[in-house]
Amino acid sequence: MIQKAPRREPPSDDDANRRSRAELDHLVHRVEDFIRDVVIPAEPAPGQYLELPVRDELRAAAKAARLFAPHVSSKWGGIGLPLSQWPEVFEAAGYSPIGPVVLNCMAPDEGNMHMLEQIATPEQKRQFLEPLARGHASSCFGMTEPHPGAGSDPSQLSTTAERSSSGWVINGEKRFSSGANLAEFMIAMARTGEVGEATMFLVPMDTPGMTITRQINTVDRVIDGGHPHVEFNNVSVPDSAVLGEPHRGMEYAQVRLGPARLTHCMRWLGLARRSQDIALDRAHDRSLFGSRLDEQGLAQELIAQSEIDIEASRSLIQRTATLLEEDNRAGTRLSSVAKVFCSEAIYRVIDRSIQLCGGDGVSDDLPLAQYLNEVRPFRIYDGSTETHKWAIARRASRRRARERQRRHEQPDGQESGSTK
Ligand SMILES: Cc1cc2nc3c(=O)[nH]c(=O)nc-3n(C[C@H](O)[C@H](O)[C@H](O)COP(=O)(O)OP(=O)(O)OC[C@H]3O[C@@H](n4cnc5c(N)ncnc54)[C@H](O)[C@@H]3O)c2cc1C
Repeated sequence: MIQKAPRREPPSDDDANRRSRAELDHLVHRVEDFIRDVVIPAEPAPGQYLELPVRDELRAAAKAARLFAPHVSSKWGGIGLPLSQWPEVFEAAGYSPIGPVVLNCMAPDEGNMHMLEQIATPEQKRQFLEPLARGHASSCFGMTEPHPGAGSDPSQLSTTAERSSSGWVINGEKRFSSGANLAEFMIAMARTGEVGEATMFLVPMDTPGMTITRQINTVDRVIDGGHPHVEFNNVSVPDSAVLGEPHRGMEYAQVRLGPARLTHCMRWLGLARRSQDIALDRAHDRSLFGSRLDEQGLAQELIAQSEIDIEASRSLIQRTATLLEEDNRAGTRLSSVAKVFCSEAIYRVIDRSIQLCGGDGVSDDLPLAQYLNEVRPFRIYDGSTETHKWAIARRASRRRARERQRRHEQPDGQESGSTK
C-alpha cells in the first residue's frame, strides 16, 4: 500500500543554519581534509570491521573539528544543515567507507535521528534523539520480518502490538535489523489494526521479552552492529513508547524513507568517487602495449562512463534533496527515481574501477572489491530496484491518465502541458 507522506516540518533552525555558497564550500573542504588526514589513515583493512575504540577516538576528533552530526539541529548538538545542503557534505564524508560513522551521519542512526526530530515528543527527543545526536547511544530500525512477513511489501507486516491495561504488548520477529547488536533502542513497526495500519514504537533493547536470536552475516562491513534477527515475545511498553501518534506508522515511514534512501545515495556516491580516483591513478601509472592505460580508447570508455554516472547521480541527488525540503511528498516520489539510478550507477562505477585495476581490483591489495560488497545490498534495502521501478511506472501511468482526463474535459481538447 502506498501511503501519502505528510508535509515535512522544517526544523526551527533550518534557515538560521543555512550556509552561503562560500560557507558551504568551506565546510565541505574541511570535511574533505578531515577524511583525508584523520579518517583514511585509520581505515580497517578490506574485509575487516572498524574497532569500537578506534571509532570512538575518531569521533572525538570529529567533534573537536566541529564536523559531528551535520544533519542534526544545533539544539541537539549537530551542525543543523538544512536538507538541501546535506549532499556535498555527506558525499565528502562517504569518500571513506568509515567517514559517515565517524561523522555520525551513517545509517540507521542518521535516518532515525531525522525522523525523531520530525515526529518525537519533546520528552522522546530528550530521551532518544539527544544521546544519538551526541554519539552517546546508537539505534536500529525494525521493519523487515522473516517470510511471509514484511519485506518489499509493507502490507505483509505481521508483528503485532495490542493494547494492554498499561500500554501495549508487542509480539513478532524482525530480521536484518541493522545496528541491533550495539543499539540502545529500536524503532519497531508493529501492526495495530487493519492491513496497512501500523504504529512505530521506541523500544529499549533491554526490555524483557526482546531478544537477539541469530546473527545474519552479510557482505558489507561498515554499518556498525550487524543485521541480526530479533524476537519480541510479549514485550510490554508504555503509551509513551509510541512514536508520534498510534496507527500512523506507515505515514511516518515515508518521513524516514525519502531522506534516508537519498542519504545512502549521497554517502555511497563518495565511495564511487574514491573508486574512480583509485582507477584513474592506476590507469595513469600503468603502461600496456606501448602506451598509458588512460590513453587507450577502451579504458577511456570505462572512465568516461563512470564520470557520467557520478555527475548524473550528483545532479539527481541535489534536485531530490532540494525538492524534499520544499515538498516532502514530491521529494519522496523523486527519491525513488534517485535511489534506483544511484544504487545502480554507483555499483557500475565501482565495478568499472575494479576492471581497470585488473587482478589487483579483486584482491585485498586494493579496497575496491570490498567497496563493491558495501554497495551491493543498497540495490535491495530501502526498497529494491524492482519495487521502486514498479512504483515509478504506476505513478507515471496514473499521471498520464490524469492528463488524458483533463484533455478530454477541455472543450478544445488541448494538451495541458503538465509534466508533474
Ligand atoms: C545489508 C542490509 C541491511 C538492512 N537493514 C535493514 C534495517 O535496518 N531495517 C529493516 O527493517 N530492514 C533492513 N534490511 C532489509 C531490507 O529492507 C529487505 O531485505 C528488503 O526490503 C527486501 O525484503 P526481502 O529481503 O524480504 O525480499 P523480498 O521482499 O522477498 O523481495 C525479493 C525480491 O523481489 C523482487 N521484487 C520486489 N518487489 C517487486 C515488484 N513489485 N515487482 C517485481 N519484483 C519485485 C526484488 O528483486 C526483490 O529483491 C536490510 C537488508 C540488508 C541486505
